[in-house]
Amino acid sequence: MITTTKELLAQAEKTNSAIAAFNCYNAETIQAAIAAGEKANKGVIIAYGERYQDYMNIEAFAAFTKALAAQASIPVALHLDHSYQLETIKKAISAGFSSVMYDGSALPMEENVKTTKHVVELAHAEGVFVEAEIGSMQKGEFSDEEEGDGKLTDPAEAAWFVKETNVDFLAASIGTVHGMYKGEPNLQLDLLHDIANSIEIPLVLHGGSGTPEDQILKAIDRGIRKINVNTEISLAAVKTIREQLNENPTIHLSNLMTAAQDHMTEQMVRIIEVYKNN
Ligand SMILES: [Zn+2]
Repeated sequence: MITTTKELLAQAEKTNSAIAAFNCYNAETIQAAIAAGEKANKGVIIAYGERYQDYMNIEAFAAFTKALAAQASIPVALHLDHSYQLETIKKAISAGFSSVMYDGSALPMEENVKTTKHVVELAHAEGVFVEAEIGSMQKGEFSDEEEGDGKLTDPAEAAWFVKETNVDFLAASIGTVHGMYKGEPNLQLDLLHDIANSIEIPLVLHGGSGTPEDQILKAIDRGIRKINVNTEISLAAVKTIREQLNENPTIHLSNLMTAAQDHMTEQMVRIIEVYKNN
C-alpha cells in the first residue's frame, strides 16, 4: 500500500529501527526496492532525485510507483531526494510524492533557511513533508551527487534551523560520504547523539553505501530513522550486467535487466535486514 515517509519514520521510531530509502530511476530499481521490502517484510522509501528527470519523467515515475505500491504487501512511500530547484519540488508535490528534500546545504545559512522555509510552506499546504540538510557531505567514489565540503552538522545550529524552518526530517552530516568511501568510514557517533538530543524530528543518514554494519547499528541506536542507499545498489547491478554479458554477449535485454533487478533485490533485502536492528 502507499503510505507517507512520515508514517514510516514514526513506525521506525517505535521499533528503534531505520527505513531504507533506495534511490530509484527506472522500472528495475523501483521493482527491486518494492520486492525487497516484501521479502524482508518492512516498508521502503522509493527516492527519486532531481537529476533523474533525464532518465524517467517525474509524473510517470510517480504513477508507476503508486501502481506497484497499491499491490504491495508492505507500505511504500514516495520521496523526492536532493532537489535544488523549486520547479522540481512543485512537480513532485503535484505528482503525489509524500515528501521532498530541499537541499540548500551549499548555500549561505541565511539563504538556506529562507528558501527551506518557503519550501515548507508550499509543501505543508499540500500535506507533503520536507527533509532538509545542514552541514555538507563529501563525495566518495562512484557517486553522481554534488561535491560537498564535509562540514559536520553543529547540534545547536541544527536545533535553531529546525525551529526556524519547521522541517519534518533533518539530514545531518556526521562523517558519511555520498558514494563509496575512499578511506576508512568513521561516523561521528557522539556528535550524532548530541544532534539527536537537540532536536525532536527524525534524523536522516545519507551515504549508507559501504558503511560498516556495526556503525550503522550504532547510528540507528542514536536516532537515525531513514538511511539513503544509492551507489552500492548501482554497483551491484552493473556487476551483474557485466557478468551476464561476458557469459552471453547476445542475451536478450529483458533477461539482462531481470538478472540485474534480481541481484539488486538480494542486496536490498540484506540492507533492510540490517536496518531492522533486531
Ligand atoms: Zn544524499
